[in-house]
Amino acid sequence: MNKKRIAVLGAGPTGLTAAWKLRQEGHDVILLERSSYVGGFGASFKRDGFILDYGPHTFHVKKGEVIPIVEYLLGDDLIRGKRNIRTLAKGKYLKYPFEFYNLISQLNPFFVIRMIFDFVMASIIYKFIHVADNNFESWGIKRFGKTLYNFCFGRYTEKVWGMPAHLISHKFAAKKIKGLDIKSIISKILGGKGEEQEIYWEDWLYPRKGSGQLFDKMNQDYLASGGQLSLESNVTRVNCEGSTVTSIDYVEKGKKKNLKVDEVISTIPLKNLILSMSPSFGDYISYTAKRLQFRGIVLVYVVMDTNAATDAHWIYLLDPIFKFNRVTEQKNLVKDVCPEGKTVLCFEMCCSTKDPIWQYTDEQFKDMIFEEIKNIKIIDPSLISDVFTVKVTDAYAICHLGYEEHLKDLLEHISQIKNLVSTGRQGLYLQIDMHDSMALGLNAAKFVVHENKDMFSWYKEKTEFLDWDR
Ligand SMILES: Cc1cc2nc3c(=O)[nH]c(=O)nc-3n(C[C@H](O)[C@H](O)[C@H](O)COP(=O)(O)OP(=O)(O)OC[C@H]3O[C@@H](n4cnc5c(N)ncnc54)[C@H](O)[C@@H]3O)c2cc1C
Repeated sequence: MNKKRIAVLGAGPTGLTAAWKLRQEGHDVILLERSSYVGGFGASFKRDGFILDYGPHTFHVKKGEVIPIVEYLLGDDLIRGKRNIRTLAKGKYLKYPFEFYNLISQLNPFFVIRMIFDFVMASIIYKFIHVADNNFESWGIKRFGKTLYNFCFGRYTEKVWGMPAHLISHKFAAKKIKGLDIKSIISKILGGKGEEQEIYWEDWLYPRKGSGQLFDKMNQDYLASGGQLSLESNVTRVNCEGSTVTSIDYVEKGKKKNLKVDEVISTIPLKNLILSMSPSFGDYISYTAKRLQFRGIVLVYVVMDTNAATDAHWIYLLDPIFKFNRVTEQKNLVKDVCPEGKTVLCFEMCCSTKDPIWQYTDEQFKDMIFEEIKNIKIIDPSLISDVFTVKVTDAYAICHLGYEEHLKDLLEHISQIKNLVSTGRQGLYLQIDMHDSMALGLNAAKFVVHENKDMFSWYKEKTEFLDWDR
């Protein structure tokens, strides 16, 4: 085998999995990570005896190579469970996915009947009348009917993206909600059996000590096999000669460094990768890259003096009165992450890093939480003992109308570089979970070492929902 010197940029689920796999194949690998820990969004952190995720990250059970790796790495520390999701909608605490008898007993029966009627009408009308999928709103109304769409998807999506649904591309939904069988959903709502829907992922896997335990274990395995890791190393420039990357500039703990490479796998945000290419792809591509923006997320952790504040894993806050998107209780997945007699709720709010709210202090968020809890009603505010926040940039790729064309332009340009693969949630600008990110990491590790790689076909295959041939 021709042994290569390979740099992997970013040690989140994608990059770490790629590096781990390459090291198993005997390559000389160096992993460069900007932060002081591995695992990216899938990491966990410790505070006052708690082990907390960046919003609880359960592992979805899907077919393929990833689950056996997770099982191998975690052994007895892998917990299995069934998802318990609730929504707060129209002031009621409802089961999700919705169930007919739960809906009809909690909501106005006329509203439930209208929701089903709209759905049936939409299914009939759009079977005979062709209406193009122009944006997320028209895409959703066509598939769910107006009442169910507004009740469940429309307002929530607008809150996450911070823009009206008719300005959001339906492409992200088409990719994320691919495989959704509407007939089965309705059959389930009506109390029938229905197939399990891919997007709900009823079964989950979770490490006993938080999602980050998986990536800590993978990192230990990687380092033990001779892999190199450089933490607090911010990649600043990707140096090319013609269509080949020759070296990477990065700043490690304040010191400028240069690394010669044969191959590169990048999992940092595609925009940042494009802007760090030297020589640059030119003004038009730099401008296009800057148009692909991410939404940040504020995570407000609320420590409570009780063993369980709710009975759910996730509660989606669907009513317009709520400022946060959802609340999660990690301890309901596994007890070991919180000390006895305590639990933590994590409130999530998406916003732009330019919004004034991004600058709010912990005290200001604490006031907001007390207001929110008044409306949520099922949480007892007298049990709150501490509130603190964590702010994360680059959480959700913003899929505004027309983003597909920008993304295609960028991928076409990056595919001209023959020894660089951009992949993962940030590197391909996708809304994917950890399982899919790790699968992309494995795939990139196998692909990058091929001679005469067809880069363009690789990107096309990974983003087939972009309608490349139209
Ligand atoms: C709120 C939220 C909840 C989620 N919940 C779930 C869930 O329950 N289950 C699930 O499966 N998935 C979940 N996900 C998705 C999951 O977090 C991602 O799929 C996964 O983390 C993507 O992995 P990645 O390695 O591609 O990207 P990331 O995790 O973002 O990792 C990228 C890494 O690159 C590093 N980096 C960036 N720039 C540089 C640079 N210039 N130099 C060096 N390093 C750099 C970053 O520090 C980071 O470590 C959730 C995501 C969010 C935002």
